[in-house]
Amino acid sequence: MTGTVEQSTVRGRVAVVTGSTSGIGRTIARTLAESGAGLMLNGFGDAGDIEAQRAELERRCSVRVLYSDADMRRPEQVRTMLSRAGDELGPVDILVNNAGIQHTSPVEAFPDQAWDDIIGVNLSAAFHATKAAVAGMKQRGWGRIINIASVHGLVASVDKVAYVAAKHGLVGMTRVVALETAGSGVTCNAICPGWVHTPLVMAQIEARAGAAGIAVEQATRDLLLEKQPSGAFTTAEEIAGAVLFLCSRAAANMTGTTLSLDGGWSAQ
Ligand code: NAD
Repeated sequence: MTGTVEQSTVRGRVAVVTGSTSGIGRTIARTLAESGAGLMLNGFGDAGDIEAQRAELERRCSVRVLYSDADMRRPEQVRTMLSRAGDELGPVDILVNNAGIQHTSPVEAFPDQAWDDIIGVNLSAAFHATKAAVAGMKQRGWGRIINIASVHGLVASVDKVAYVAAKHGLVGMTRVVALETAGSGVTCNAICPGWVHTPLVMAQIEARAGAAGIAVEQATRDLLLEKQPSGAFTTAEEIAGAVLFLCSRAAANMTGTTLSLDGGWSAQ
């Protein structure tokens, strides 16, 4: 059989993408809508911008697109978002746990609140969303749970204790859910990007430029050279392509894996 990658299994499905008002999640959401999935957007931002994003996708892609302002730090809001998606869009087939935040500081100075928030958004929200969605997927015999982890789910860096702990936890959770759903038609995988040029990384580049007293362009080059051998950012479009691949027939028997899109970072 040929063409398994191209064979779209997305059209007519319902997808929830957490943290899809910016960066990687926004591009994943757009790609899923363009492939014919009904969509629940989620995340923070300017209400007018988010409504413009929602309405544009709905009009251009001829799919239903809803928005939830659920705060991923709050389990009851995660559950409410999933049940609203089920009620208003139909059973959730594709769950992309993407929302994520960062804070950098040595462990002895790491603020307790930043630890709680990062674990809440980057790890616990994925648990609560998966818990709410997986039984229905198993019952219907098809589902895709895609966790946007990070190269920091596989290796560590200094000053990122909460982020690295959360992303390693997310990779572990991916493997458990994959085992528990094996043979049911549901798969669960993690995508592990290296540096991607998004607002989350821009904040880190600007902090490095400020601390070293160098230009943002130099700080950007230094950041890439330090960890990412390709010397290039991974793009949000490449990550969205990996999401589509995981939804395709070619990936039907692929579960519990990590897909590294990191320019060779984790090969070192
Ligand atoms: P981003 O800052 O551009 O977007 C983050 C999204 O999450 C936004 O929509 C934001 O509103 C949302 N969000 C934040 N806190 C939230 C909360 N409490 N409740 C609901 N939504 C919330 O970041 P990004 O770079 O696109 O990151 C997306 C994911 O990719 C994250 O999980 C991040 O860890 C991961 N990642 C990013 C990179 C990178 O280099 N940018 C690399 C590896 C992994």
